[in-house]
Amino acid sequence: MSVCKENAKQIREIETKIAKYIFNSYIKEKCKISQAEFMSKLFFKSQGVITQEELLKDELKLLDKATEAYDSHPEKYINNKKTVFGYPDEYRCHHIIYKKHKFTRCKNKVDEENGGDMFCLHHWDSENPYEKEYQKLVDKIEE
Ligand SMILES: [Zn+2]
Repeated sequence: MSVCKENAKQIREIETKIAKYIFNSYIKEKCKISQAEFMSKLFFKSQGVITQEELLKDELKLLDKATEAYDSHPEKYINNKKTVFGYPDEYRCHHIIYKKHKFTRCKNKVDEENGGDMFCLHHWDSENPYEKEYQKLVDKIEE
């Protein structure tokens, strides 16, 4: 039977044995960290991984800042419309990208010639299948 067919519990046992071995051989002497801490750092990988909600909140915050910065001094951005926070809402592509299991709005500038006021040069001709789902998530945050 191949290793792939072993159940998750057995794999976890092997991982734990290896982790303890690594801890005892390399970590214990050099680092001030307990075995429990080491194990939790190693196995609770979800810590530090950004969630969809966090990603979206950051994205909306930046978009707000960009829009604010632009609207208060549009004359500063006549050439390319880009603020330090990115493009303001009205000049940012509306295409939704699905990347690493998360939705995020394209950061490019709309291409006025091809995309009108909606899409960038890469997306003016593409479908936008995640738009509704993204909007639902935005609504949920802005509620
Ligand atoms: Zn785009």
